[in-house]
Amino acid sequence: MTDRTRFGPAGIPPMFRLMGADLPDVPRLLREEGLDALEYEAVRWGPKPQISRELAQKLGASAKQNDVRLSLHGSYYINLAGKRDVVEASKRRLIASATAADWMGADVMVFHTGFYGRFEKDFAFKTCLEALKDVTSQMRSLGLKIKLGPETMGRKFQVGSLDEILTLNQEVENTQLVVDWAHLYAIRQGTLKKPEDFRAIAEKVEERLGTEVMRSMHCHFSKIEFTSLGEKKHHTLDEETYGPDFLMLAEVIADLQMHPTMICESPILDVDARKMKETLDRVFESKQAKV
Ligand SMILES: [Zn+2]
Repeated sequence: MTDRTRFGPAGIPPMFRLMGADLPDVPRLLREEGLDALEYEAVRWGPKPQISRELAQKLGASAKQNDVRLSLHGSYYINLAGKRDVVEASKRRLIASATAADWMGADVMVFHTGFYGRFEKDFAFKTCLEALKDVTSQMRSLGLKIKLGPETMGRKFQVGSLDEILTLNQEVENTQLVVDWAHLYAIRQGTLKKPEDFRAIAEKVEERLGTEVMRSMHCHFSKIEFTSLGEKKHHTLDEETYGPDFLMLAEVIADLQMHPTMICESPILDVDARKMKETLDRVFESKQAKV
């Protein structure tokens, strides 16, 4: 999928908007900052794409020209574990996001699978699995090639534990593994404290889905505040009180020869994405110095 670890923001950095940038300018501005990925946020979309085909294609062309890898984050209003009408509406929203992502030439459409609600966990999960298989076959008949990226979630009532996401990747065709490290940190109540804790997750992925899937995972990263129920709020990398620590993940990326796409979800999107890139560069430099 990607040749090297890429970094970019989740959404358009506020500074770009202040500068009056149009959407197709964004990939060039990111490249000028030394970044090479962008997750387009379609998180409030309903059952139809809320971007014109023309604008989506312009963004895609500009991303290609500037070597920026595009992904798209689908609507938050999706629940594949709900009642039948909710599931059907959620499928339409996924197809809308996938259609726009296809116009852009994005590689993956990230989304939140659903909520357990009043259902048993197993039943809720099976409902999601069946719904996703149906979405995949609808996408195939529409000629949409974009990969589906169900994300690891950070709250106890959300479908999307690491195990569930690994199973979705195993069982559903045309999926891309999406690991949100902040969510894992929140749901595990801050127990990612050493590089080995990060490594154990990567190794579990490798065991279930193979080395290449592990190396090319699509990631979200930021620091995060949590409660006993999980995720509360995303924070910047400089805030000492919160975790996880990107340096630990950077060590694992280098050791396991990973080349993930790292999407930064901190409140200072591109600024922290650059900080992550600098951290990984320093890790590689210090390893080379030791050789
Ligand atoms: Zn997300």
